[in-house]
Amino acid sequence: MKKIIAADALKSAKKIFTDAKIDTPGLDAEVLLAEVLHTDRLSLYVHPEKILSDEEFSRFKNFVERRAKKIPVAYIVGRKEFFGMNFFVTPEVLIPRPDTEILVQFVIDALKNFPGAKIADIGTGSGAICISILKNLPGATAATVDISPGALEVAKRNAENLQLADRINFFPGNMFEPLAGKIFDCIVSNPPYIPTDEIKNLQPEVKTEPKIALDGGVDGLNFYRQLVKAAPDFLSPNGLIAFEIGIGQAEEVKKIILRDEKFCEIKILKDLSGIDRVIAARKK
Ligand code: SAM
Ligand code: GLN
Repeated sequence: MKKIIAADALKSAKKIFTDAKIDTPGLDAEVLLAEVLHTDRLSLYVHPEKILSDEEFSRFKNFVERRAKKIPVAYIVGRKEFFGMNFFVTPEVLIPRPDTEILVQFVIDALKNFPGAKIADIGTGSGAICISILKNLPGATAATVDISPGALEVAKRNAENLQLADRINFFPGNMFEPLAGKIFDCIVSNPPYIPTDEIKNLQPEVKTEPKIALDGGVDGLNFYRQLVKAAPDFLSPNGLIAFEIGIGQAEEVKKIILRDEKFCEIKILKDLSGIDRVIAARKK
C-alpha cells in the first residue's frame, strides 16, 4: 500500500476544507494532523516527510470528514485553550471564546485586593470563567450553576484537571434556585444572549453548540432580566455583578440594571474588536 506522508495528508485535507468553505483550511488541517501525531504544528513543518501509520491515517481521515461537516476543531480534539489553560470540551458545552477573557480579567482585577472573595458563576458551561478567575485569585471560592447536567460534568472534570475542585461547588439547576440562602461578593455570568430568531442565521459551527447555551429569548435579554432581578438577594453590600453581553446589547442591559435603582457604578468594557462586551455594576 502507498505510504502517506504528512505533507500530502495536509495538502489533501486543506483542499477538502477549502471546498467545504472552512474559514481557516490550512490551520485546521495542521491542528488536526498534529493532534493525530501527538505533536505540534511546528514539527509538521520540520518533518513534512513523516510517514503516517495506517492507524494515524485513518484517524486523520475521520477528523477531516467531521471538520468538513462543520464540527468545530475544539469538539474534534476535545479541548480549547482559554486564559492560558487547556479546557476539556464536549458538544454539551459552549466552546469558550477569546472575548470572554475580558470578563475574566475584569473580575480578577476587581477582586484582587479582596482575599477570600466568594463568587457565583451562573451558566458555567465548561467552567472556563470561574476556573480562570480562581486560578488567579488564590483565596477565592466559587459556586457554579448550570441547568445542563452534562455541562456541569465537563466543568467538574476541568476543575479536577486544573487542581481547583476543592474551591468550587457545582449546582445543577435553574439560575439562582440552587443557591437559596447563600451570599456572594461577585456574581459573574456569560448567559445565553442570542435572540431566538437569529440562531438560524449563525455560522454552521456555532449551530453545533448547545442551543440552551445560546438562546436568550425573543430579544436575547431574558437572562439579564432574571439575573438583575434576583442578584441583589444573593450579594453582599457593594457586591459586584459582571456579565458578558452581545453586540449592541450594552444600552438595553444598562437600562435593565438601572431600572430598580439597586445598582450603581455601571461600567462597560469593550473587546479587542471595539465591541461592548462586558457590563458590570455594584450593589448599592
Ligand atoms: N460560562 C461558559 C462560557 O462562558 O464559556 C458557558 C456560557 S454559555 C453562553 C451559557 C450557559 O448557561 C450554558 O452552559 C447553558 O447550559 C447555561 N444555562 C442556560 N440556561 C440556564 C438556566 N436557566 N440556568 C442555569 N444555566 C443555564
Ligand atoms: N459569543 C457567543 C457567540 O457569538 C454567544 C454566547 C452567548 O450566547 N453567551 O456565538
